[in-house]
Amino acid sequence: LSVSDLVDASFDRIHQVDDKVKAFLTLNEEYSRIKAKQLDEKLVSGADRGLLFGMPIGIKDNIVTKGIRTTCASRILENFEPIYDATVVERLSAADTVTIGKLNMDEFAMGSSNENSGFHPTFNPWDLSCVPGGSSGASAASVSAGEVLFSLGSDTGGSIRQPAAFCGVVGLKPTYGLVSRYGLVAFASSLDQIGPITKTVEDNAYLLQAIAGNDPMDSTSAKVDVPDYLASFTGDVKGLKIAVPKEYFGEGVEAGVKENVMAALKVLEGLGATWEEVSLPHSKYALATYYLLSSSEASANLSRFDGVRYGLRSDNSNNLIDMYKQSRSEGFGEEVKRRIMLGTFALSSGYYDAYYKKAQKVRTLIKEDFTNIFEKYDVIIGPTTPSASFKCGSMVKDPVTMYMNDILTIPVNLAGVPAISVPCGFSDGLPTGLQIIGKHFDEKTIYQVAHAFE
Ligand code: GLN
Repeated sequence: LSVSDLVDASFDRIHQVDDKVKAFLTLNEEYSRIKAKQLDEKLVSGADRGLLFGMPIGIKDNIVTKGIRTTCASRILENFEPIYDATVVERLSAADTVTIGKLNMDEFAMGSSNENSGFHPTFNPWDLSCVPGGSSGASAASVSAGEVLFSLGSDTGGSIRQPAAFCGVVGLKPTYGLVSRYGLVAFASSLDQIGPITKTVEDNAYLLQAIAGNDPMDSTSAKVDVPDYLASFTGDVKGLKIAVPKEYFGEGVEAGVKENVMAALKVLEGLGATWEEVSLPHSKYALATYYLLSSSEASANLSRFDGVRYGLRSDNSNNLIDMYKQSRSEGFGEEVKRRIMLGTFALSSGYYDAYYKKAQKVRTLIKEDFTNIFEKYDVIIGPTTPSASFKCGSMVKDPVTMYMNDILTIPVNLAGVPAISVPCGFSDGLPTGLQIIGKHFDEKTIYQVAHAFE
């Protein structure tokens, strides 16, 4: 099998199914075929091969790619062509992957269903009348539909794990600081992380191995040694201590989802792990805390889209101030505007202490909940989402219900710890996810547990 064969297979599949799934915003066909030929030459010459040699990969469209349109699924960046590659893209290139194209998402990563894309929604390959989740919905759908073997997503409050759960694939949000954010268009800088989405846990570890590690271009990048993740694939979980938070089985979590998690815990018990019920008492404040902090950070981060520096510039204005206003009014979608307004309000003088500062304090309490549990336990396990995927259009008019979808994933981002979602049975015929949360920089143990299900 040559790299060209792999890349051909990927495009054949895309041409076969993507008019239904609608995962890609931009295809990189010509370049991919050239790159495949170059890699095939390496194969013949016997030159050193990268870790992910020849693997077709899709990249979420908020990760910048040199010379390839990067839109964040927003009209405001409709024709934006970056002049540099994100660090993760550089590292993938060094690992000899082939970037097949750029994947749809909720605009600026704000959403849980992919319906907030400024271009078109993406659909769940398991049931095209259902959403693939979001905001990395297309990253999960493209892997699930077999269009690419790997993809990159980003996770600010659940955007890798929730779509992975909805599409029956594996998605990891790494520890904050493990993967460089240089070249990731910022939504909420203190929460955003890029992470791998794959069909198997083993693939996931390979992809993380290729992208993790310190980057001087990102001041929040951690100076830690990257372990050999594959070495944790021992199949042994004997003696492992698992914490199961009672808050993750509360009201709103569907019976089918709970049953699947209990069945998974039984499997782990059978393999010699033990589990106990614990409490993360501040979880109930996580959603409010997240929406205050993430919207505040977004309102600052998105101020750079002003019609001057990148993307869309409105023709309907007579002076500079109007030009800013018109460009932003025409370019941003409804949800993005909602977040900017909420964030600007929370940061405004007179409200800053009551909202933003208070939310920061609650964030510390949420973080401490995790620290306390990890003093006694190796991992925390629960569902990824309260339910399986839902019908397209069923929540668009109700942002608060949509926000509830992330109730089990958001605390993890606030604490900065890593977590994976792995497929864990079905509810009403649709896949559900098992969430395994680990200590800071302990992705190894997460993989060790996740691998027990393969
Ligand atoms: N759905 C959440 C939101 O809308 C999380 C998004 C994300 O993780 N990027 O903010």
